Amino acid sequence: AARTSGEPARAYVPSMGQMFLRRFQLVTQFRQAMETGQVKIHYQPKISLPSREILGVEALVRWRHPEFGDLHPDEFVPAVEAAGLVDALTDFVLEQSLIKVRKWMDRGLRIGVAVNLSVRSLANLSFPDSVSAVLKRHDVPPELLTLELTESGVMADPQRALPVLRALSNLGVVLAVDDFGTGYSSLAYLRQLPVDEVKIDKSFVFGMGSDLGDLAVVRSIVELGHSLGLTVVAEGVEEDVARDQLAAMGCDVAQGYLISRPLSEERLEAWLQARTAQ
Ligand code: C2E
Ligand code: CA
Ligand code: CA
Ligand code: CA
Repeated sequence: AARTSGEPARAYVPSMGQMFLRRFQLVTQFRQAMETGQVKIHYQPKISLPSREILGVEALVRWRHPEFGDLHPDEFVPAVEAAGLVDALTDFVLEQSLIKVRKWMDRGLRIGVAVNLSVRSLANLSFPDSVSAVLKRHDVPPELLTLELTESGVMADPQRALPVLRALSNLGVVLAVDDFGTGYSSLAYLRQLPVDEVKIDKSFVFGMGSDLGDLAVVRSIVELGHSLGLTVVAEGVEEDVARDQLAAMGCDVAQGYLISRPLSEERLEAWLQARTAQ
C-alpha cells in the first residue's frame, strides 16, 4: 500500500515495514556478502540407487548474515532475483562448484555437481557461453555439471526457454527438471525439451510410505521418465523405507537427509572420507 510522505511506517505496518527494510538490506548487501565469504555453498550428496555410490552433489547456497543469522535461500534468493542480481549469484555458485569438482578430479574422484538456476537465466541468451567458459576455465567435462531448472520455471514459457536449453544441451551438460510433479506440465511435454533428468519433488517422496496417492505419483514419474529415456532422481529421501521402495521401482538416484544433509565443504570432505574408507 502507498503511504504519504512523513508517515512513520513502523507505527502503522511494523511487520511489513520491517520485512521491506530487511529485503532492501539483503539486496544491497548481497554482492559484498559474496565477496567477503558470508555467502557459502553447502553440498548435498546424491547416490546411485542400485550401487549406493556417490554420483555427485547439489550445490545449495547459504548466507551467514552478521545480523540475521544463517539464512536459507528461500529467505534471500527471491529478493536477489527481483533485484536483478541473480546472474551474479549463479556465476558465483558455478565458479565455486567447478573449483570443487576440479579438486576432486585432481584426487582421482569423479563427483559431479548440480547447480540450481533461476528462470531468469533461461531468458539470457549469453548464459550458455558463460557456462561454456567456466567449464573451460576449470577444465571440467560438461557431463560433470548438472543444471537444475524448476518445472514451473521451464513451463512458464517453454518457447522462450527453448533456445537457451538447446544451447546448454549442445554443450553436453546435464539438464534436470526440479520439483517435478508440482507444476502443471504433462510428462509427455517433456519430450519436446532437451532435458536429461527429472527430480521427483520431495513432497511426494515424503508421503510415499504412508500415502498410496503419493506412491502412485512417484511410481508413474519413474515409469514415464524411464520410457522417455530420462534419469530419475528422488529428493527428500528421509527414511530407509522410501529408499528401498524407490530402489525397487528402479529409480536411479536418491538425495535426502537419510543419505546426508547439505554439508559445508569441510564436513563434506569428512563425509567422503568416511564413505570411501569403508
Ligand atoms: P531445491 O533445489 O528443491 O533444493 C532442495 C531443498 O530441499 C534444499 O533446501 C535442501 O536442503 C532440502 N532437502 C534436501 N533433502 C531433504 C530431506 O530429506 N528433507 C527435507 N525436509 N529437506 C531436504 P534449501 O537448501 O533450503 O534450498 C531451497 C531452495 O532454494 C532450493 O530448492 C532451490 O530452489 C533454491 N536454491 C538453493 N541454492 C540456490 C542457488 O544457488 N541458486 C538459485 N537460483 N536457487 C537456489
Ligand atoms: Ca534443486
Ligand atoms: Ca543432454
Ligand atoms: Ca527440488
